[in-house]
Amino acid sequence: MICSKPVSKDEVYCRDCARTSHGYECGYAMWSYNRITEGIVADIKYRRSLSGIEFMVSELVYRSADLIRLWNVNAVVPVPLHRKKLKQRGFNQAGIIGEHYAAKLGICYIDDVLYRIRYTMPQKLFDDTGRKNNLQGAFRVDEEKLASYGKAENVVLVDDIYTSGSTINECSMALKEAGVKKVYFVCLCIGDGY
Ligand SMILES: [Zn+2]
Repeated sequence: MICSKPVSKDEVYCRDCARTSHGYECGYAMWSYNRITEGIVADIKYRRSLSGIEFMVSELVYRSADLIRLWNVNAVVPVPLHRKKLKQRGFNQAGIIGEHYAAKLGICYIDDVLYRIRYTMPQKLFDDTGRKNNLQGAFRVDEEKLASYGKAENVVLVDDIYTSGSTINECSMALKEAGVKKVYFVCLCIGDGY
């Protein structure tokens, strides 16, 4: 009901959402992260497969457009990469997904407001607590820039994979501190671990 992680038939919330509150309201992930979807996402991330992106974003739009309307979203913001990482990889996969997503939905795309100011170790190297600590204070919002966009009240964050949710959570808190009212997210994949 909150993070959209798969749960068993009689569960309403996943283990994570049942015991902790999040910085975001709720979100939608299109697929479970498994060996098949891992390969598709890696194609975007490391080989910049544009046909793959087109297909996935169309599918994501198709499945989440009703939610986006329900959430009354007026801005799409990608989870940012640190500039060092951006230089290494040459592009931000969340940015490519987010830009296509916003264009297809006709919503304002904003990629120059939320920044990753700390270079962090990959999240996959840590357990849940480690992931939270690793990201603390890692994001910053340019408030003046945000204000220049006018009514960016309800934001949807876009990322490729949601694992523990720490990244989306930290980004949400940074955006809310800067005055954004509600933060939602959409992701291509979500892990079933915690
Ligand atoms: Zn959950």
